[in-house]
Amino acid sequence: MKGSFTRPVCETPGCGRPSRFNPYAVVRQNSRWCEPCRNRWRRWGDPRQSVLQMKALIPIVRKVLGVIERDRTTKIAAGASQLCLNLRDHVEEVLADLERGQTVWRWTDRACREILRCLRENEPVKCAAVAGALFLLRERAPRTFVSEEAWVHTFVRSWRKMLSDTAVGSYWDHREQKVHKVYKELPWQVVQNMGQLLITTFAPLGARLILLEQRRRGKLGQEAVKQSLDAGFEDLLKSKRKKGPSPNRYVPTQQHKQRMSESIKRWWSQRKLAQKKS
Ligand SMILES: [Zn+2]
Repeated sequence: MKGSFTRPVCETPGCGRPSRFNPYAVVRQNSRWCEPCRNRWRRWGDPRQSVLQMKALIPIVRKVLGVIERDRTTKIAAGASQLCLNLRDHVEEVLADLERGQTVWRWTDRACREILRCLRENEPVKCAAVAGALFLLRERAPRTFVSEEAWVHTFVRSWRKMLSDTAVGSYWDHREQKVHKVYKELPWQVVQNMGQLLITTFAPLGARLILLEQRRRGKLGQEAVKQSLDAGFEDLLKSKRKKGPSPNRYVPTQQHKQRMSESIKRWWSQRKLAQKKS
């Protein structure tokens, strides 16, 4: 590009645009990217992260809700609700501190307000189920999230999108004659704060759901794999090896033997002819 020879190229693989240029800025991680990649980083936590569509998440949410319903002891539902109540207590304490005049970081304040809004609008079980579904999705398709930061951002975005009506706005498109929905972005720091709170709160539920799925799928843990290998080798040592030829040895058929003898005879006659000529 003309005039861009002094600028380094954006670090996103396959981007190729010149990186953002600001001679007065402190060189930081995000100054290695171009402006579009920087916007993507702010929105998704990583410029390489792609959109997580709700149609991929909704079936898993239904599945988690089904698991909670099928539990006869109703302890899963009680535990999930308790996680939400704990989170709500913490968030309300932070907001009460703010009202009393204590110093609270601005981004923490906004993150707490956003979480409280989602918790008020929905039932606690649903809030927990959506979070659990996101953990399950990460277990099923780990490549959906390109990095840890992208995971945090996508988690917060999807959780908020599913639970808050105010997180999504809409506008009328005159050209296409239909309503378009738009997600209302939060500042990067707010998302980080929300992500920390949400992931630490719902991690116990997510871990149990992942374990349940792994057991159902028959995917054994490291210890179980060792045990099954040991049992197999023990059995081999106990059983005596049979004498005689191996069952896997190739036994030539009558047809094969005949063909072999014919080819040997042919070769022998050809050799004799060659000796006579010489
Ligand atoms: Zn770029």
